[in-house]
Amino acid sequence: MGFSVTFWGTRGSIPTPGTSTQKFGGDTSCVELRVGETVLICDAGTGLRKLGVELMRRSSPVVAHLFLSHPHWDHIQGFPFFAPVYTPTTLLHVHCVADGQERLRDLLSGQMKGDYFPVQFSDLGARIEQRDLLPGPNPIDEVTVRTMRLEHPGTSFGFAFEHEGVKVVYATDNEIDLTFPDPDQVQNDLEAPRPVPEALVDFVRGADLLIADGQYTDEEYPEKIGWGHARATTLVDLAVRAAVKQLAIFHHDPMQSDELVEAKVETCLARARRLGGKLEIFGAREGFELRID
Ligand SMILES: [Zn+2]
Ligand SMILES: [Zn+2]
Repeated sequence: MGFSVTFWGTRGSIPTPGTSTQKFGGDTSCVELRVGETVLICDAGTGLRKLGVELMRRSSPVVAHLFLSHPHWDHIQGFPFFAPVYTPTTLLHVHCVADGQERLRDLLSGQMKGDYFPVQFSDLGARIEQRDLLPGPNPIDEVTVRTMRLEHPGTSFGFAFEHEGVKVVYATDNEIDLTFPDPDQVQNDLEAPRPVPEALVDFVRGADLLIADGQYTDEEYPEKIGWGHARATTLVDLAVRAAVKQLAIFHHDPMQSDELVEAKVETCLARARRLGGKLEIFGAREGFELRID
C-alpha cells in the first residue's frame, strides 16, 4: 500500500511568511503520512492549521494519530488552530514516548492557558487520548512505529514508521554534529567524512524516505554549535551510510530565503555524488506531496 506523504510545514524555529520564502514555505513543522485510512501526523507546528482544514474537508469523523517530537513552540503552536479538535466526533490519539514525554499533554494544554489563548484545552470538543509508545515496535493500525531519542536541548524524539516493508523516518531537531569528538577540527576540513552515531544509522537504515533536520549550511553552523540542529551536509553522510533511498532536508533556518535553501540542497547533492551511492535529495517544501511505495 505504501505511504502518501504531505509536507504542511517545513520551516524551523519560527514561522517565516513573506516573498523570500514562498517556494519552501514559512509554516513550521508538520508532516502528514497516510497509509490507507490511517492518518499519522508528525508535529503540530503552524502547518497543522491547514492540515486541519483539509482533514475536515476530506472526511467525517476525523480520526488521526499525532506524534510530537518535542514541545518547543515551532512543534506545538499549530495545535490550538487545528480545527478537528473543536469537533466532538473527532478522535485524536496523541502518542507519547513512555519515560520521555510524560508531561507532553500538560505542555500541549499549557500553551492554551488563559493568558496565552482564549479557549482552554478542557473546552475542546474532541476526544483526545494519550497513548504510550514503548521501546521496540509499536503497532498502530497496520503501521509499526519505533522511536529514538535525538540530540537536542531538552531532547527530541525521532519516529520510524514501517508498513509492508516500506519505511519512512521523521527525525527533526537533532544536532548530529555534536557527537563529534572535536567539532572545531572537523569544520576545518569540510570535505572529510563526518562521524555519525551508530545508533542513528541503525534507526534510519534502509529508509525509503528520511525526513530530517538539516537546518544549517556549513557556513552557518560554526555560530550555532549547541543550538540543537544539524548541518545539512552531515545529514548526507548519515543517509549514505544508512543506505537511505530518498532524503528530505527539513526544518529550514528562518534566515534562509528560497535561494539559500536551494543552494543548501545543491551542496548536499554534490556531497552525495562525491560519496557515491544513489541517494536522492530534495528540500522539503510546503504543499509538496509524494508517494512512497
Ligand atoms: Zn524545531
Ligand atoms: Zn526544538
